[in-house]
Order: sequence, then C-alpha cells, then structure tokens
Amino acid sequence: VQFADLGLAAPILRAIKDTGYDTPTPIQTKAIPLVLNGGDLLAGAQTGTGKTAGFTLPILQRLTQTRPTNIRAGRPRCLMLTPTRELAAQIKESVDTYSKYLELRSMVVFGGVNINPQINQLQRPIDILVATPGRLLDLHQQGEVDLLGIEILVLDEADRMLDMGFIHDIKKILALLPKSRQNLLFSATFSNEIKKLADRLLNQPDFIEV
Ligand code: AMP
Repeated sequence: VQFADLGLAAPILRAIKDTGYDTPTPIQTKAIPLVLNGGDLLAGAQTGTGKTAGFTLPILQRLTQTRPTNIRAGRPRCLMLTPTRELAAQIKESVDTYSKYLELRSMVVFGGVNINPQINQLQRPIDILVATPGRLLDLHQQGEVDLLGIEILVLDEADRMLDMGFIHDIKKILALLPKSRQNLLFSATFSNEIKKLADRLLNQPDFIEV
C-alpha cells in the first residue's frame, strides 16, 4: 500500500513526500481511510507506530474540505488532547509538517509555562488546537477558548492521560464540546477504565489495533 492509495489529497501527499516517508505504517494504512470516512475510531497503538500521522493526515484533509471562510478567533475546529507538554509539542510539529501546503492554522497549549502568550495566540483564527487537559480548562475558564466549534476530537495516549489522573479534566472538557462530532481515541492499552471512557465517548466506532 502506498500513501497515494489511501484517499489523501495532493497537497498532503506532497508534504508526506517532503518528509521522506516511503510507505504508510500499518496503523496509517488502517486509520487513514476510516478517519476520512468520518466515523469514530478506537485505536490500539503505541508510540513509534506512526499513529500521529495516522490521525493527523486524514484530519487535515477533512478540515480542509469543510473549511468555512470565516474561521473565528479562539474557536478551534479540531481538538487534540494529549497528556504531556512534550507530546503536545511533538503533535503540533507533526501538524505543521503535514499541513505546510494547506491553509489551516494550528496552535499548541500546555501547562508549566506562562499562559499569556497562549492567550495572545488565541486571538487569531484557529483550526487545530493541540492541548494538555489542565491548561485547556484554565484557558476555557478565563473565556479565552470556545470549544463549541469542535468538529473532531482526538484523545491521544488515553491510557496515559488516565494514569496521570486526567479523567476529571477529560470529563469536564467533553461536557464543553458540541454533541455532533467525530471522535478518535488512541491508547496503547485497554483497561476497564479505558473501555468505559470509550463507551461514553465513541459512537459505533471502528476498532483497529497494531
Ligand atoms: P509516532 O508513533 O506518531 O510518534 O511516530 C513515530 C515516528 O515515525 C515519527 O518520528 C514519525 O516522523 C515517523 N513516521 C511516521 N510515519 C512514518 C512513515 N510512514 N514512514 C517512516 N516514518 C514515519
């Protein structure tokens, strides 16, 4: 299987070519067509499998296809939640890499750093927000981010988020999102807690594992 067989648009294929990737990884081969279809997804994948591109590439395409002309400041269309600032920064870097030929705006917010530059950045139109849960809630409580425009939600490393005690934050965030949206949950392991979260979050999901 080649990237060109997965239904991705030319500007995305060009960005992939620039990275030097030869062929899609197994999680990418499975996830990309499913995410492009618009359904919910439950995916079992560890770090290092290429899962970030597996969800980012099709999300970029979907956001581009449906992009309104009047993107609003502080009101992202896609939310990617991840447990740590390192992971958040890495995802943001991937989003930048794969979206270089697209007109999409993304930003990353995480805790442990001054909130004010993040507030300033949120004054601009934004398609994709990569975030850690606590800082996202802080920004929401301060009225700086509106989550009612979310069309696609990604919970990345969901098991680690639960291990780190983020379940209450995640539940609070879920309550702030519009009902109709696409949900993608990635986890390396499937405890009962993860299964409960998946049941609560996902609507007739496809399931893939690598
Ligand atoms: P991830 O599992 O998303 O953290 O990705 C692990 C690493 O694999 C990252 O450094 C990616 O740049 C790289 N990568 C992702 N997809 C591919 C691919 N199809 N071919 C080669 N490397 C890739």
